[in-house]
Amino acid sequence: MLLFKKVADLQSWLDSQRAKGDKIGFAPTMGALHDGHLELIRMAKRDGCLAVASIFVNPTQFNDPKDLEKYPRLPEKDAALLLGAHCDALFMPPVEEVYPPGIELTIELDFRQLDKVMEGVFRPGHFKGMATVVKRLLDIVQPQQLYMGQKDFQQLSIVRDMIRQLQLPVELVMCPTVREADGLAMSSRNMRLTPEMRTIAPVIHKTLQWAKKELEARPATEIGAEAMQRLSEAGLQPEYFDIVDGISLLPVARWAGSDFIVACTAAFAGEVRLIDNLVLKG
Ligand code: AMP
Repeated sequence: MLLFKKVADLQSWLDSQRAKGDKIGFAPTMGALHDGHLELIRMAKRDGCLAVASIFVNPTQFNDPKDLEKYPRLPEKDAALLLGAHCDALFMPPVEEVYPPGIELTIELDFRQLDKVMEGVFRPGHFKGMATVVKRLLDIVQPQQLYMGQKDFQQLSIVRDMIRQLQLPVELVMCPTVREADGLAMSSRNMRLTPEMRTIAPVIHKTLQWAKKELEARPATEIGAEAMQRLSEAGLQPEYFDIVDGISLLPVARWAGSDFIVACTAAFAGEVRLIDNLVLKG
């Protein structure tokens, strides 16, 4: 596996690979890697791509400076994990390579309701920062395939919309959420959970599964409210539990309301904010 820190070095290597006819599959990450991230690399390899991962803790998508400061950083361990997953190249740029001084890179797209609901309510500015860095990384890497996880369902919807609006020549490939044996969605943040919170956190996935069973019989608002209560009673501090259309991300009232229904939730487990989702229909 090759390691690149500079845009120019990565690009000249990518040019030489493309000249040989290689297809580039790209998985952007913020590091502190786990099996969910590695699955993106494995999918890219299975698709016959040259797999390129990036590790960049993007300061512009953190609305809470404490969250940015506490975000785990484990570059050596990450590189070893990527090597084990047969990743071909790792791009680990410093901030000034991604945001060169004096160059305005912020993208100003209108994502309509997509960036205003759910995470958009609780993390103002997050998606603008995320979309900006994904666009910048796509400009640098110019992959044919972009691999992202279903774990961040709203992020995926916004990136899909950005690709459509800007007509970017890349195919977005969604990787299903990789979970621990007890159902907890793998996340870089899980390593910050206290032992007590680690035992409680799987209730998030259990509650999503419970909602899936309930939705055929009851209105979504009722289920959402009861799910919030279940998460609170288990010892978490839920921020939202929304049952939405999988394309528009607008609330769905009942089972018959859409062909593609997803339940999305965010909850604090102590100091750690966790998100998860489950496709209920479609
Ligand atoms: P992050 O490093 O958290 O920004 O995530 C980088 C990429 O990995 C994103 O596309 C995430 O959706 C994806 N990802 C994170 N956790 C998981 C998981 N448990 N299963 C599948 N993909 C994941």
